[in-house]
Amino acid sequence: MYDAAVIGTGPAGLSAALNLKLHNKSILWFGAPSGSDKVEKSEKIANYPGLGLVSGAELNRKFREHAAAMELESVDKMVTLIAQTDEGFSLLADNEMYEAKTLLLATGAVTAKGFEGEAEYLGRGVSYCATCDGFLYRGKTIAVFCGAPRFEHEVEYLAELAAKVYLFAGYRGCAVSRENVEVLPSPIVKVSGGLKMNAVTLRDGTELPVDGLFCLRSAVAPASLVPGLAIDGPHITVDREMKTNIPGCFAAGDCVGRPYQIAKAVGEGNIAAHSMVEYLAEKK
Ligand SMILES: Cc1cc2nc3c(=O)[nH]c(=O)nc-3n(C[C@H](O)[C@H](O)[C@H](O)COP(=O)(O)OP(=O)(O)OC[C@H]3O[C@@H](n4cnc5c(N)ncnc54)[C@H](O)[C@@H]3O)c2cc1C
Repeated sequence: MYDAAVIGTGPAGLSAALNLKLHNKSILWFGAPSGSDKVEKSEKIANYPGLGLVSGAELNRKFREHAAAMELESVDKMVTLIAQTDEGFSLLADNEMYEAKTLLLATGAVTAKGFEGEAEYLGRGVSYCATCDGFLYRGKTIAVFCGAPRFEHEVEYLAELAAKVYLFAGYRGCAVSRENVEVLPSPIVKVSGGLKMNAVTLRDGTELPVDGLFCLRSAVAPASLVPGLAIDGPHITVDREMKTNIPGCFAAGDCVGRPYQIAKAVGEGNIAAHSMVEYLAEKK
């Protein structure tokens, strides 16, 4: 059982991980080792103190170097579900369970809205995890939304299992090419069915009968990730100590609200880490 699980390798998650490490806490840090895509894509950052005008790629590189210098390594997996336990939290990532006493959500802003009906059918035909649920669709027809190139290997894995895959890519230049994969240009707008989902409707009005839908995105909506989490619109509700409504669960960065800024994310990650350290001390 780890002291802390930190989800997100962006500025908020990094800042928290650094501070937890300085306090000698054992940490599970989830997210891409490359860091934040948003930071990477920023052309010029002029409002992060101490570095002058810096490109996002340069700042991201410095973030990665700082993590490496502090011997912080991330687990390159998407966390798809978190449950409260007597001891803290259990986290599901790529079909593996992890346990931690405290939890920090530093997952960034969820810009992509889920499809209509997606949340309703989550666990009833809709899945966020290819490795966890792919085997359920052996020989079946599925739809897959692939939100970023880093999930293409998961699409390939699903295509090995399913008889037919309708693929919807959220970006240009998707490289998946297999006989049983049909790439469709019109995006999904709705998920429908009965007790279980059985169709997706596309923007052009086509209704495709499918046995399941996999949504592979870089972020999972906080309310789907942690059942019972208090949210306000797209943001997680926190107090000034970055505490959520769930004891032991903290949140920081873009996922708790605007302004979406690196300095704010770093500051909130710092506050959250200190609150987590205090919480762990009180629990002893
Ligand atoms: C084009 C652009 C330009 C910008 N320019 C500036 C600027 O000049 N100055 C400025 O201050 N800010 C700027 N920003 C905003 C800044 O990038 C964000 O405010 C900052 O990155 C937020 O940090 P964060 O750690 O909260 O979230 P993010 O940087 O979004 O990081 C969150 C990370 O968590 C990961 N994650 C999410 N869910 C999960 C999960 N379930 N399991 C595992 N990992 C998960 C994501 O993949 C992501 O890597 C810009 C943003 C963009 C897009």
